[in-house]
Amino acid sequence: MSIKAGLVGLGKIARDQHLPAIAKIDGIDLVAVASRNAQGEGVNNYPDLGAMLAGEPDMDAVILCQPPQVRYQAARQAILAGKHVFLEKPPGATVSEVDALIALARANGVTLYASWHSRYAAAVAQAKEWMASRTVERISIQWREDVRHWHPGQPWIWEAGGFGVFDPGINALSILTEIVAEPITLLSAELEVPSNKQAPIGATLAMATASGAPIDTVFDWRQTGPQTWDIAVETSNGKLLLSEGGNTLTLDGEVQLKAPDEEYPTMYRRFVGLVADKAIDADTAPLRLVADAFLCGRHCPTADFED
Ligand code: NAP
Repeated sequence: MSIKAGLVGLGKIARDQHLPAIAKIDGIDLVAVASRNAQGEGVNNYPDLGAMLAGEPDMDAVILCQPPQVRYQAARQAILAGKHVFLEKPPGATVSEVDALIALARANGVTLYASWHSRYAAAVAQAKEWMASRTVERISIQWREDVRHWHPGQPWIWEAGGFGVFDPGINALSILTEIVAEPITLLSAELEVPSNKQAPIGATLAMATASGAPIDTVFDWRQTGPQTWDIAVETSNGKLLLSEGGNTLTLDGEVQLKAPDEEYPTMYRRFVGLVADKAIDADTAPLRLVADAFLCGRHCPTADFED
């Protein structure tokens, strides 16, 4: 039987990706939307999650697409109502919130899915397989994009708990922690925070694998023109480049795979499987690295930024 799902926060990512992916995938149907300022088509609409839970007793799952600052209370409410929960990334504003949700989902026998969409980019699985038999010597990450293009009219992203440039940067960290088998530690960070904002517009991270291979990382939100989402890996036996956010794989200079973005349909297939097993998939590794960067990062004030 198909999962009856309700979506909370009908904004950019819900419209761009969730609605088309749900429509495309067997095993899940959207029956309701809870959003303060928007209405879904062909579904029941509610002003908030409480009203949706009260009005849809047969709903099986809740998909949370609001900004991270408000996700924890909504996820708690849904789990306590016995619903399976799909969390947009990042799964929470803090690590402790996500740990609490994992425990709550386990206690209530429901699925908790902390989705990391970039892990489902076309070339990530092949990159992981290629790296499994090699020793990493150095990794370089360049994640540079234009915030004005990708996040217009999103004040929450600049506020505390909004992650700033780590909102896209955590996508790179989700791929990194997927393809590198060893634990990764953060050594130091520099966070460039505009004087009129609470969250960084640029960040430089020094990380390392457990066996000591350096991982140099730059996140920057001031890149106009071509955008860069690259992870380059040097190993004892060849070089790998994951580009276009993980959708293109180049090995020793030769493109091996270049495929269109199918991240969200793939995630929804995964969610349908998790719900069938009432399983939990909530890896906090990318979020922990972000938290570590905020814990030990040196703050470098930069010029005011108007978006
Ligand atoms: P968004 O459009 O700014 O927000 C989504 C919706 O959440 C809004 O339309 C709004 O709906 C609701 N909302 C906004 N602020 C809220 C608040 N303070 N309290 C309660 N509800 C609030 O953001 P988005 O781009 O869709 O991003 C949402 C999440 O998806 C973020 O965690 C982001 O990292 C992730 N994500 C975004 C993208 C992307 O390309 N944009 C890609 C992947 C993942 P109502 O006002 O109607 O309630």
